[in-house]
Order: sequence, then structure tokens, then C-alpha cells
Amino acid sequence: MQTCITNQKLSETLFKKQKAGMRKHINLMIFIGGLLSTSMLLAQKNSPIQISRIEPASWWVGMKNPELQILVYGNKIAETEVSLAGAKTGKTFANLEGITLKSIEKVENPNYLFINLDLTNAKAGTFHIIFSKGKEKLIKEYTLQNRRKPGEKYTSFGPADAIYLIMPDRFANGNPKNDEIKGMNQGLNRQDPFGRHGGDLLGIEKNLDYIADLGFTAIWLNPFAENNQPHESYHGYAITDFYKADARHGTNEDFKRLVEKAHSKNLKIIMDMVFGHCGSEHWFIKDLPEKSWIHQFPEFTRSNYRLSTIVDPYASNFDKDKMTKGWFDKHMPDLNQNNPRLARYLIQNAIWWIETFEIDGIRTDTHPYPYKEFTARLCKEIFEEYPNFNMVGEVWDRRVWVTAYWQKNSLSRDGYNSYLPSVTDFPLYFSLLESLHEDDNDWDWGMAKIYYTLVQDGLYSNPYQNVIFLDNHDLSRMATSYNRNLKMQKMALAMLATLRGIPQVFYGAEILAEGAGDNHGKLRIDFPGGWEGDKVNAFTKQGLTPEQIDFQEYTKKLFNWRKTAKVVHEGKFMHFVPENSVYVYFRYTDSETLMVINNNHKTEERIVDTKRFVERMNGFSKAYNPLTGEMLNDLSQIKVPAKTCMILELKK
Ligand code: CA
Repeated sequence: MQTCITNQKLSETLFKKQKAGMRKHINLMIFIGGLLSTSMLLAQKNSPIQISRIEPASWWVGMKNPELQILVYGNKIAETEVSLAGAKTGKTFANLEGITLKSIEKVENPNYLFINLDLTNAKAGTFHIIFSKGKEKLIKEYTLQNRRKPGEKYTSFGPADAIYLIMPDRFANGNPKNDEIKGMNQGLNRQDPFGRHGGDLLGIEKNLDYIADLGFTAIWLNPFAENNQPHESYHGYAITDFYKADARHGTNEDFKRLVEKAHSKNLKIIMDMVFGHCGSEHWFIKDLPEKSWIHQFPEFTRSNYRLSTIVDPYASNFDKDKMTKGWFDKHMPDLNQNNPRLARYLIQNAIWWIETFEIDGIRTDTHPYPYKEFTARLCKEIFEEYPNFNMVGEVWDRRVWVTAYWQKNSLSRDGYNSYLPSVTDFPLYFSLLESLHEDDNDWDWGMAKIYYTLVQDGLYSNPYQNVIFLDNHDLSRMATSYNRNLKMQKMALAMLATLRGIPQVFYGAEILAEGAGDNHGKLRIDFPGGWEGDKVNAFTKQGLTPEQIDFQEYTKKLFNWRKTAKVVHEGKFMHFVPENSVYVYFRYTDSETLMVINNNHKTEERIVDTKRFVERMNGFSKAYNPLTGEMLNDLSQIKVPAKTCMILELKK
């Protein structure tokens, strides 16, 4: 840690000196307009000046934030002088009058340059960036595009949606030809639970109808960006190129087509982004621009994973530092977003994906691990460009107050505002799981656990925006954690569909797939039917057991109903203290009321006297059960079977 700080100070001093010198230089170099001479263009082809990356490769005019940082990577590129020129190539022409070259930053590694532009008055078109060294010149075209639509027009996901979570390597193999890519580290190995199994973006595209038919309206994809790691690259969380789909999942064009096709079927796409770490094989890790791009220690130092340290009034700096600066894993270097160039790089990358692909939302991995000032700035900048966008941050803690800290405008004693609209609701995940396993023969047990978790919703600024779930790619699958008990799973799923929040279901839950949380490789199953020659095919039901078909149909009925149930999308929540194993809550608007009765008793049916619910039931005489199709004509007493969540639409 100490070495890290020393390095950072050293690089800052170097950087300041370089910056002061450069500023004078730039003013002299910038020249406006003008066509490039033939000799200059010829020079591009044979130039000894080599550039391997320019990121972002293109940008837009008309963004709220007019500033753009262009990273240039090439052998000793810092030894060149940089100037801009207007270009006339084909139909495009950029008037350089609107483009201000603010600065060129050189850092401790001469293989990098950062070009800072102000695009306040820029027009769409192409201009040239000219790199010169002595008589040598290299010219790179840079394109500024018009935005496809104003940022306000971008919509996003919310409580009206139900999310289906997919791990791209494990859902469907749409293109077996990309299973092995020459020059990439890992090939196909379906026998290894931690190997690559060949699933890809095309496989998802081909099965969008299945997801839509189940009643889901959004898909959250675990990361699909390049993970060219030697081991366990399948999960996608060790990114080695922030701008590129992993070739084994397909291309950026495949992703674009997937988003467009999904939109045509009223499915939204939520992209998983990682800002806290990257893969050890990331190209910039192998040749760091500055030592301070990552947190470095004399020996491997793991994060303590204790999010609590960020909000704990008694936390030591030792524990806080370990949480934020420690590495997530040996092959995942921890990014230091306090480096201003890295911070800008990461924020621009997120905006680039939204603007290029019109994605409908972002799920941020390990949201509390980067510096909290950085994630707040990230969210703020995204929402300045896209006011109607939504982001959900992974906040993995079972305490409501720790989770709520990360939702924007929540009560925080230190005045912190995360600007993050949505958080993952782990407290509700744990209380649902425990309560359905327990008997209600104690003040605090059984349904009381859900009740008392929701009692704390006052700590959130908007609990209706919480993403709620029964499992995900890191947790034991629902069938496993609910003891393969069909009744319990049906109850839990119906509660998930009607409680406040945005429900998320992990692919395979609908066919009772199993897998324990202590073996990630195994719980991330190959979805049956996703691979050619699969004997079981969940898409067609071929080979599924009657129990699996029953649960798949139940899921379909439940979420197709939820899709049209405005009262769940917009309704307020009211609940009553659990009594005698029965927990009743309502969702209600001015025009509709939904009553949800949960009998948590393992074996006994309950006849629920409804007198104490008059506050919400007044004026209603009948109720329709959308899952069974039954109409109840007498609401004074309602019979609810053991371990059942009964959904009732109240009618006058
Ligand atoms: Ca494939």
C-alpha cells in the first residue's frame, strides 16, 4: 500500500511538469481546416509511428458533457507531437472551429497519450488527428456522430418489468464456430464446470421468444465483454477489453442485433458492467499507463469484502482500505478510480455502450467496491445524459441500512448521495429464504422475518426500485435452497411477483434447475436445449419431467399476469402484522386493489377471517384469482391451503 502511494505521488509530479510544458505547445500546434496533402496521406501507410488503440474509437456531438478524453496507445507515442486537422473524406466534414484541443496529457508510460477535447460547438463529421515525429507523420481519422435520439428519449427498466438473468456462456450455443478462437486463451471444454461451454449472443437472440413467452420484459446479461483470461474466463467478470464483446460470445455487431431484436419483442437489455476491477490479462494491465491505475501492494492483498466498513461509524482506516483497495481475486487487479484519467475512461466507456447500443439499463457489479465518490460521479454523469435511464448496483449485504446507503437520496449520516436509483435487495432475499423454511411459532420467526425486513423500508428513498430475487449467478439455485419443495418455490415466486420491487429470475429457475452456491461453475448450468444434441430441451419441453413442465407453466402464467397487472407496477404497498402463520399484504392504486395472502404453515390450511383488513377491503365483495381462474364470491372468510401464496384481485 505504501509503495502505491509513493508511486502515485511520483507520477503526479511528473505529470504536472509534463502538462505545463504541453499546454504551450498545443496552442501553437492546433490549426484549423485545410485539406491534407497527398504526401501526408502516403506517410500514414509507411509511418514508423505505430498506434494500436484509440479509445473511444468515435464519439458524439450534442452530449450534455462536451468534454472528451481520447486514449491513444502505441509504441513511444508520447514522443510524437499531436495536432488536429479538418478532413474531407467522402461526405463527412468536421469544422474544427467547434473543437477545442484542451490539453494533451503524457503520463509515466510513453506508450500512452491522452487527448482532451472540448466539443461544445462541434458538428458531426470526421477530423484528423496528426501524430508527428521529425519528418514522420501518422494521420488517424476520428469521427463525431450525431446522437441517434436525445438523451431524454432513452427509456429504461422499472417496477413494471420482470428481469430474466442469463450467463451468456451457459444459455445457448447459437454459433458453434466461435466456440474456439485462434489466439485466445481458453477453448471449449464443456466437461469442466469452470471451462467455457460455447454459449453466445446469437444463442440468446435465437431464443428471445422463449423469454418473452415466459412473461419477462427484460434480460440482464452477465458480462459479455472480452475475458481473455487463462482460467475461468466463462463468467465474464475479468474483463480484458472494455470496448469489445468476447469473440467467443460474438461481435459488437451481434450485440447490436440482439438489442434491436429484443426491443422488437418488447424485451429490454440490461448490461452488466464492472468498474472495480478487470482481468489480469487486460491489455492496459500488461502495460500500465501509470502505476496508479491499480492498487498495488508488496504482496497479494485481498479485499475483506466487508461493505459495512464504508458506512460503519467505528470502522478503522485499515479495514476501509482493505475493502476498497484490496483485490477481489488474484486474477482481478483492483482499479484505482482516484486516477482522473482512469475515472474518465470508465465513465466514457459506460456512456459509449448506452449511446452506441441503446441498452435499457446497467447492472453495476460490486457497486460499493470502487471509491464511492467515483460511483456517485459515474451515476450522476450517466443520468445527466440520460435522465430516464436506470441502474441497479450489486450491494451484497443482508442488512437493510447497509444496502439503503447506496440508493440515491437515502438517509445517510455522512451526507453521501450515490445517485444510484436501484439496489439489489439481499436483505429481502435472505428473509424470504429463511421465513419460508421456518415455522411461525415465535415472535421473530417465519413470516415475521419478511414483515420486519419490509418494516425497514423507510431507510430507502424508493424501495419500489429495489431489484428483488430468489437466486442469481452467485447464489444457490432456488430449487436447491428451497429444498426442491415445489410448494415452497411456487409460494416464493408468487411473492416475488407481487412484493414491492423489480423481480429478477435466474435462467433455469423455471425448470427447477439445481446447483449449490459453493460451486459456481456447476450452478451456472448449460440450459437444456441450448446445445445441439441436448436430450432434454426446455425450449420445446422435450424430456422435461411433469414437475418441471408444471413449474415452467406456473412461471409463465405468473409473469404474463404480472406483465399486465398495473397495480403491481404502480401500486402502493400495505401489510398487516403476521398472525397464526398468515401474512397478508396489499398492492393498491386509486382504481385497483390486489390482496396477497400467504399461509406459511407447512401442513395446515388456514381459514382467514378478513375483518382486520377492512381498511383495504372496504367496498369489495368478490375476488378473482388470476393463477387458478377462480372467482371468490364471499370474502368474509378465505380458505388458503398450506404453504401457499394466494393472489386475489379484489372486485366490487
Ligand atoms: Ca458458440
